[in-house]
Amino acid sequence: MIRRLFGVLDEPAAALLRRMLIGLFAGAVLQGVAFTLLVPVLRALIGPTPVDAWAWLAVLAVVWAGHAVCYRDSLMAGYRTGTGLSRTLHHALGDHVARLPLGWFTAARTGELAQLTGKGVQNIMGTPAHLLRPVVTAFVTPLVVVALMFVFDRRLALAALVTLPAIAWAYRWTGRLAAGADHANDAAATEAGGRVLEFAQTQPVLRAFRRTVDGHRMLDAALVAKRDAGRALLLRMVPGLVSFVLVLQLAFTVILLVGCYLVLGGTLGAAELIALLVLAVRFLEPMAAAADLGAAIRMAGNALSRVEAVLAVPPLPEPAESGPAPGGSEVELVDVHFGYRPGEPVLRGVSLRVPERGMTALVGPSGSGKTTITRLVARFFDVDTGSVRIGGVDVRELTTEALMSQISLVFQDVYLFDTTIEDNVRVGRPNAGDDEVRAAARLARVDEIVDRLPDGWATRVGEGGAALSGGERQRVSIARAILKDAPIVLIDEATAALDPENEAAVQDALSALTTDRTLLVIAHRLQTIAAADQIAVLDAGRIVELGRHDELLAAGGRYAGFWAERSRARGWRLASWR
Ligand code: ADP
Ligand code: MG
Repeated sequence: MIRRLFGVLDEPAAALLRRMLIGLFAGAVLQGVAFTLLVPVLRALIGPTPVDAWAWLAVLAVVWAGHAVCYRDSLMAGYRTGTGLSRTLHHALGDHVARLPLGWFTAARTGELAQLTGKGVQNIMGTPAHLLRPVVTAFVTPLVVVALMFVFDRRLALAALVTLPAIAWAYRWTGRLAAGADHANDAAATEAGGRVLEFAQTQPVLRAFRRTVDGHRMLDAALVAKRDAGRALLLRMVPGLVSFVLVLQLAFTVILLVGCYLVLGGTLGAAELIALLVLAVRFLEPMAAAADLGAAIRMAGNALSRVEAVLAVPPLPEPAESGPAPGGSEVELVDVHFGYRPGEPVLRGVSLRVPERGMTALVGPSGSGKTTITRLVARFFDVDTGSVRIGGVDVRELTTEALMSQISLVFQDVYLFDTTIEDNVRVGRPNAGDDEVRAAARLARVDEIVDRLPDGWATRVGEGGAALSGGERQRVSIARAILKDAPIVLIDEATAALDPENEAAVQDALSALTTDRTLLVIAHRLQTIAAADQIAVLDAGRIVELGRHDELLAAGGRYAGFWAERSRARGWRLASWR
């Protein structure tokens, strides 16, 4: 654990950890020396010349003072290492996560990251001061006493030495048991948390289909599993803890028996025995507690492993400086192959030119890869082979900043921050003036939403934008894009049926955004599709037809069939064409 801490710490924090360990070690050794000094002190007191005790007491005082200095210094260093750890881990995670492909951020990962930066880092940062210190002290001090015992009574020291392997073994065993159970407990807690969320989120469906009993059953099962895992954690730790305490008691009993035997035989002085008893009383408890703490150290180690796993995810390679600036805003995919998992291709050789200042509509069955194409343009992921070019430049040659300055995203899953609408629009361009923010909001007809809100512009929209409807959230996202004013806009049209009023507003907002820009639209509405300069029909990861609406209709292929079907069912959205 100590080695792993050094692995993640930056230099100043590592220096603090070294300082803490040195102070800790020196303090523990001095403490051991002080305890052993009890033997000569007691010997002198019991012996014929009690006055000699003064000299030994003076030495004892000096040693204790040294111990106090070391103790204080290492305690302070320990706390500061803890804050250093928290700072380095947060920075390392923050810096790393900022360079990860956007596609990495699934809901599950984001949840895990939140857990890790909160509770995980907290567990790790407590390690130096709260865990390592007591454990190291609990073991080093008795070891020093045993070593020094050789000076006074070799037989007693040998008896103590013999018990050490048993203690060490029991300690390790306890730790391993706890770490294993901790893994299982953690997994069960994550599962139960997920089920509770799911249960809450699926209430409307469960109730509508009168499946409340089934819903309960899955949640129940997860909660029972969590309780069982918690119990298992305890049950698995208990034998370890109990046996560790037993081994400790046994060890001290052996030493005490040897001691008594020697005293009765007249070959060991009372002073040695008293020193031994003091030691037993003073250290049995801390050593027993050390087993608990050892388990906690293992758990902190588990948290550290999870941090290391996140840090090991390779970031998207990014050039230090942007290469040539994009010459215009044309987007081009050249023979792009891509899959989320090896062996499962999603795009199989897509070539598509999205002309500058024109609208290209992507249509195709659900799962054909439309969303994937827009994600590759915004470099959520890198292509497997082929390339994505913007203004003739491969997106991999652009820095994230340069790439993002070219693109606005209007996707379906709009996330709003729990702040005012105005601040949410301003996300599009943080340094925009108030009048610019209002103008963009007006163009996207966000001002109408504001009019109906109780506190107008100052109304907070709630976590994720809960106070707004889906169509309204999309209008805010369009306002952001208008404010950002990037030359390329990627749009995933809303599939959920909007009420007519919202539909018209979203339509107005989009037309305010789409004039004079390069547009790639995943189009679901016939109106958008028919108006596109170019329509690409995607099927199973390939572009099967490309052309204008009237051309494709005349060709009488896939698109013509789709159009006929959709026109017949006007007003209905066919599930297979989402
Ligand atoms: P469309 O937008 O046309 O409905 P997508 O591009 O969303 O299609 O998905 C294409 C295929 O890729 C589907 O089979 C889908 O299951 C899969 N897919 C989409 N996103 C992911 C992801 N993040 N991880 C793994 N597979 C994915
Ligand atoms: Mg999609």
